[in-house]
Amino acid sequence: MPENSLNLAGFNEDAAENILENRRRFLKLFPGQWALAGCWQVHGDAVRVVKNLIDAKPAEDEHGDTVYCDAIVSDAAGVLAGVKTADCVPILIGDPKTGAFAAVHAGWRGTVAEVATKALSRMVNEYKTKPGDIVVAIGPAAGVCCYEVGSEVMDAFGERFAPGANLFKPTRTDHACVDLIKANRAQITAVGVHEEKIYSAPLCTMCHTDLFFSYRREKSVYGKVGRLMSVIGRKRV
Ligand SMILES: [Zn+2]
Repeated sequence: MPENSLNLAGFNEDAAENILENRRRFLKLFPGQWALAGCWQVHGDAVRVVKNLIDAKPAEDEHGDTVYCDAIVSDAAGVLAGVKTADCVPILIGDPKTGAFAAVHAGWRGTVAEVATKALSRMVNEYKTKPGDIVVAIGPAAGVCCYEVGSEVMDAFGERFAPGANLFKPTRTDHACVDLIKANRAQITAVGVHEEKIYSAPLCTMCHTDLFFSYRREKSVYGKVGRLMSVIGRKRV
């Protein structure tokens, strides 16, 4: 249940004061001062560039996530780019050479829309990032063990990925489990990121509702779901 644990988003499913207090506790984990930059996530492919701390910082009494987008890109020290998930894939991208970074939210729609590579190409354009320098962390998400989709989703992937991409594990008629993490890894490596520099969390959110929030597992049971937050940033010096 979102109200019993460290829910970090989902303002229509938990009280705003709970979420904001949880965010304050969460930010305390990171030494120093940070401004959290988020998105009002819409399962799209829009990328928000956060140029500086003023750009990032929402008023303390507002929800903050007022920009409709699914990826945040920045190179500003003190900015913490964050995405919220509960089964979707959180992707954190860091460029140790230029100091640029990105946080990306990719569910199946975002994956089909190639939101991760769009965030990456924004890093290339804005900050001269070279894909070969990049390190990627993929957080806990619904795995191919559990994340079943129907034929319309399979068709959408079929249009975007090569037939040999091997992203599905058949379940029943017109249904299969899709490997969103593999799909995102494939997209990211296709634009020049080295496979060995992409680290994926091995835990499925749907298998581990004791550790994570899972929209698929919990929404129908409790009527509401909390959100995890994945963040990346550069320390102020
Ligand atoms: Zn699973």
